[in-house]
Amino acid sequence: MAVAVTAGMLRTLHRMHRQLEELQGRLEAGPHRVAALSSGVQAAEARRDAAKDGVKQARLLADQKQLQLRTAESKIADLEAKLNACKSNREYQLFRDQIAADRMSTKVLEDEILEALERIDVLRPAVPDAEAAIAAVRRRLADEEARIRGEAGQLEAEVARIRHDLEAVERELAADLREKYDRVVKHKGADGMAAADDKSCGGCHQQITTNQFSELLGGKIVTCRSCGRLLYAPESASPV
Ligand SMILES: [Zn+2]
Repeated sequence: MAVAVTAGMLRTLHRMHRQLEELQGRLEAGPHRVAALSSGVQAAEARRDAAKDGVKQARLLADQKQLQLRTAESKIADLEAKLNACKSNREYQLFRDQIAADRMSTKVLEDEILEALERIDVLRPAVPDAEAAIAAVRRRLADEEARIRGEAGQLEAEVARIRHDLEAVERELAADLREKYDRVVKHKGADGMAAADDKSCGGCHQQITTNQFSELLGGKIVTCRSCGRLLYAPESASPV
């Protein structure tokens, strides 16, 4: 078979392998994108849960303080009843001091309750904000999944078409070349081949010897000594 024809076939096969790898890369990018968006949904849900928990904790604190306040107020009411019923000045003074001290405590509790209620008001908007963020990232995920499903069909059809054409060209390769080609492609895919343009390996750019170049143009199977790629003659080359 003419050298130029063999070089042309290898060049075509190399191009097809590159196209297949590019398509494969695009097919694999889809699930990665979906996985990234799914993690985004989970992160948004975790932020929503944290926001809800923050409100819940503040609410618990406010309830606890309100309970303490009610208990303190009923204690003051008891003391006031005792104050009104007491017989001695000394007792009267004791109850009055106790009531004054307890009133100070209820003031502190009232301030703490106000603070807790304000904190709830500050924290509460974070919950609907987080819900909106979840909805947005879920919509993006659904859109992306639909887009990827549509694209995957096209990409797979393209892969099948190129594979079919590729096999047709492969069948035309001479047996010894086919064996070499199968081996490099199996191990390196598209990176198993390179054009020997400018008398250097198109893959690793290592210069090839004049002898190797002559062999290549003479129709011999030549691989790059540096990277092992199966070389094919440049398009412009004519047999020597
Ligand atoms: Zn090389």
